[in-house]
Amino acid sequence: TASLADVDPEVAKAVDAELNRQRDTLEMIASENFAPVGVLEAQGSVLTNKYAEGYPGRRYYGGCEHVDVVEQLAIDRARELFGAEYANVQPHSGAQANAATMAALLQPGDGILGLDLAHGGHLTHGMKLNFSGRLYRVSAYHVDATTGLVDMAEVERVARAEQPKMIIAGWSAYPRELDFAEFRRIADEVGALLMVDMAHFAGLVAAGEHPSPVPWADVVTTTTHKTLGGPRGGLILARAEHAKKLSSAVFPGQQGGPLEHVIAAKAVALRIAATEEFAERQRRTVQGARLLAERLVAQDCADAGIRVLTGGTDVHLVLVDLVNSELDGRAAEDRLHDVGITVNRNAVPFDPRPPMITSGLRIGTPALATRGFDADDFREVADIVAEALAPAFDAARATVLRERVAALVARRPLYPGR
Ligand code: PLP
Repeated sequence: TASLADVDPEVAKAVDAELNRQRDTLEMIASENFAPVGVLEAQGSVLTNKYAEGYPGRRYYGGCEHVDVVEQLAIDRARELFGAEYANVQPHSGAQANAATMAALLQPGDGILGLDLAHGGHLTHGMKLNFSGRLYRVSAYHVDATTGLVDMAEVERVARAEQPKMIIAGWSAYPRELDFAEFRRIADEVGALLMVDMAHFAGLVAAGEHPSPVPWADVVTTTTHKTLGGPRGGLILARAEHAKKLSSAVFPGQQGGPLEHVIAAKAVALRIAATEEFAERQRRTVQGARLLAERLVAQDCADAGIRVLTGGTDVHLVLVDLVNSELDGRAAEDRLHDVGITVNRNAVPFDPRPPMITSGLRIGTPALATRGFDADDFREVADIVAEALAPAFDAARATVLRERVAALVARRPLYPGR
């Protein structure tokens, strides 16, 4: 019965400090968001106590009647929201959703073709130290050096040459929409399966702000905690023909007991994601990213060697290219941190600087949109970012920018009343 503060003051103190950090800074890591209170409550519930190996109605433990309700709600809502024939809500994370999908549909040694990590792909799309790079024969496609767009001619060329069993479309750092129909055409041409990893843009898809990959892909995987705004976790959507293999690849293939408290939180998030309020938030998310991109292509930024990859964005993030700037990715990340803005440095395609330094920033708007930021707020954020990256930045300017950040966070309180 003891509260967290009583039983473990050290952890309680760090949790409080983290809440204050989230409140007092501008959170602009593109893969982060603020889960609604209902999601936090579900995730902090007694469902964490329950073992439920198996699936609703087919469990290996007694007493599953209530978690069955919860998991079935999550499944039904996921299928309905995305128009999918099959949904598996058990993967503990996005990486595990991808691992299970590959385990279900591939044999070790089969070929996979994904976007190169250095060009915006994810670790699980074939990075050599990851399970995907160790188990499968990896080939990669890239973005075009001039346009920054995924080179579909290369996808086709490599697919023909390498004959992969699975083509992976999806990204962790890319500011434009992918051509799912063209990926499907190429996959069909070489007899490959198509997996789309929409971890980053799932919320936009749910809101109708981004084309859906579901009609095109054999399997669509996602995380539930990025633009989708739910608990940290994974989700698999698929055509019915792959259902049996996917179910047994998740359990017993990859995982034991499902995290029913997290699944309950996924159900809550999926319900919220079907609302007009959520759609409006996704529109503000994309609008905020566009305003940021517009500010960073202005003349003062261009003069400082700052560029925006692809010249803009269609999604929730902007990729800043600092190849021609005195400022490298690490120094830029530190400067923004110094004024109260959290982002991550990110290698840009063909990056001349080493991976720990990089020549880029990935800046996202989902968390601020969730906080209620509107176009005026995002214009102010964009201007603060531009001024922080400018050559004239010094201690005096940092003080002013910190005050401007403080004014913004005061105007849009996070978790009021908690
Ligand atoms: N897929 C993509 C495209 C991602 O960007 C990420 C997370 O960064 C993942 C999968 C992995 O998700 P998780 O961190 O939940 O394992």
